[in-house]
Amino acid sequence: MDLYEYQAKELFGRHGVPVLPGRTVDSAAGAGEAAAELGSAVVVKAQVKTGGRGKAGGVKLASTPEEAREKASGILGMDIKGHTVHQVLVTVASDISEEYYFSFLLDRSNRTFLAMCSAEGGMEIEQLAVERPDALAKVPIDPIAGVDKAKAGEIVAAGRIPAAVADQAADVIVKLWETFVSEDATLVEVNPLVRDPQDHVVALDGKVTLDENAGFRHPGHADLVDARTEDPLEAKAKAKDLNYVKLDGQVGIIGNGAGLVMSTLDVVAYAGERHGGVAPANFLDIGGGASAEVMAAGLDVVLSDPDVRAVFVNVFGGITACDAVATGIVEALKILGPAATKPLVVRLDGNNVVEGRRILTEAGHPLVTLVGTMDDAADKAAELAAAGTVGA
Ligand code: GDP
Ligand code: MN
Repeated sequence: MDLYEYQAKELFGRHGVPVLPGRTVDSAAGAGEAAAELGSAVVVKAQVKTGGRGKAGGVKLASTPEEAREKASGILGMDIKGHTVHQVLVTVASDISEEYYFSFLLDRSNRTFLAMCSAEGGMEIEQLAVERPDALAKVPIDPIAGVDKAKAGEIVAAGRIPAAVADQAADVIVKLWETFVSEDATLVEVNPLVRDPQDHVVALDGKVTLDENAGFRHPGHADLVDARTEDPLEAKAKAKDLNYVKLDGQVGIIGNGAGLVMSTLDVVAYAGERHGGVAPANFLDIGGGASAEVMAAGLDVVLSDPDVRAVFVNVFGGITACDAVATGIVEALKILGPAATKPLVVRLDGNNVVEGRRILTEAGHPLVTLVGTMDDAADKAAELAAAGTVGA
């Protein structure tokens, strides 16, 4: 889960990372009031979960409350890379002598954590990474040893942070590591980490990604979810404990096992090319024990996606045998009743397949087509989805 800048900086503040005071508001008038309350020049900052807000015009300085109100009125409602601005952070403005870049992240390819640090931070960091990679230090972090002051000093030196603020920057980095570990983050990024004219080091921006698999350790993290921007289908699936990701296509997908579902997405995308470019509408893994309830919950979510024209149920019977899955499908369709309105292509294989197919054939549900192989089933589902799209 990605956090907004204001949420990231609240976490930073709690872990002792220096940030400036601010308030998050959803109206221009609120921005004026916040600026008056802060009693200084402020920055009005679009709160959207994407980078490059500065370049898009979503970060503006304001020296008076009236100016803060005007800037906020320009920024609220703006579209930044497909994200609508619903809230702005009004925060005390800092004078900036230098802008640094710093991050901790999970480096999957090297199976470790990585610190990245540069004395040349700011809005051109992507360009710097490409054109002068030497200026962006990458320091692997041993997850057991972690980051103490000495390690932080090493990172600061590698990033060529000036000596005058090196010690302070190292302190900040130790606190960012504490934030990273104790919040179970997979990314903590500060760009810019600034040096002000008084040689204070302050985090002016913050980007944090939390590991949702560790959510059970952090009851407070659930409050960080913004229902306004969460996909309603994904929210519904989450409420039913389903492993669901919304995609852009028209063929609903239900399968058991993440690997099978991923290869199902591939064959459907491939088949879709022969049928007017239809594509998978979602990823949904109902897991090993596909009970009727879970199947019904999955079908309910997939069928309530208005983009879905046909559904491909692809099940390989293992510990849960095909007859149980077939019964699950039949029962699920009974539970859903008239809510089931779109054609279902079912491919069953594996443990007890003959009995599973017999159960589905016998039930003879008018929406269900049983197909023998995964490729043929993908083709049929794509064909039905394409037919359903015509004139829709
Ligand atoms: P981003 O573009 O989405 O990464 O948003 P940032 O929060 O990083 O802001 C973009 C740029 O705005 C920064 O690199 C700074 O140059 C500038 N900026 C942000 N906050 C302040 C501030 O308090 N004072 C000044 N002078 N500039 C700021
Ligand atoms: Mn930034």
